[in-house]
Amino acid sequence: MEIEKARSYGFCFGVKRAVEMAENSPNGYTLGPLIHNPLEIDRLKRLYNVHPLSSIEEVDPQKVKRVIIRTHGIPKRDLEKLQKLGVEIVDATCPFVKKPQEIVEKMSREGYDIVIFGDKNHPEIKGVRSYALHDRVFVVLKPEELEGVPLKERIAVVAQTTRKVDQFQEIVDYLIRRGKEIRVFNTICNATFENQEAVRELAQRADVMVIIGGKNSSNTRQLYTIARNYTDAYLVEEKGELNPNWFKGKKLCGISAGASTPEWLVDQIIGEIQKITQTDKLETKG
Ligand code: SF4
Repeated sequence: MEIEKARSYGFCFGVKRAVEMAENSPNGYTLGPLIHNPLEIDRLKRLYNVHPLSSIEEVDPQKVKRVIIRTHGIPKRDLEKLQKLGVEIVDATCPFVKKPQEIVEKMSREGYDIVIFGDKNHPEIKGVRSYALHDRVFVVLKPEELEGVPLKERIAVVAQTTRKVDQFQEIVDYLIRRGKEIRVFNTICNATFENQEAVRELAQRADVMVIIGGKNSSNTRQLYTIARNYTDAYLVEEKGELNPNWFKGKKLCGISAGASTPEWLVDQIIGEIQKITQTDKLETKG
């Protein structure tokens, strides 16, 4: 059986950068898990003594000397709190998340109403909205949520980095009818879509797809859902979950991995699939 990796998979630029920053900051603490992958979190604990804290309240400056901020960023007041506590701050906020934070700060300073297309409960959006210098900030997922909201004539709009462009476009179209001056900042990051496009392309040719990643990672699950539309697909977190029956009689096995899946895990799982399929061949021959 042939094994082929999707042309784009795994860590995006921001996660790669955050993991490298954590590796260069031993004995540090992250606010929440650095990425949605329990095995990678364990590796950082074992090799670099980097541990996750569940909230800023757990930052005890007697014990915690160094805090690593995740790719999602944190609310401005939490950043200020950390600065006051005097701990060393390693800011691994993805530059693509910093961008909407800066835009919201600037446009609110200039008096624009702010519309954010995104999930108000997501940490990235909690962070982005906290940069507004006034409270005329509206976080929505659909244009209908803006019905009846008394918007000013000058509106600036940004998007959560992982949202879809066509849905952002719907919000923008709606706002054009509502305001006189609309400043649109396309802050969507393409990394997740590149992995999705690549999985779609490969799944159409493969007899079976193995998607590697945390089961609680939404982008990994999205890859799995796309793959399943075209062929047999399985989502695994570790090599022990692989089942030899999945590969029986298959010619091409496609591989993809979520944005929080490290390369060492992809290699490990490919090695295990090779082992399984080779053993299977011997058994069939014997
Ligand atoms: S998905 Fe995009 S915005 Fe999010 S961490 Fe990766 S590169 Fe940054």
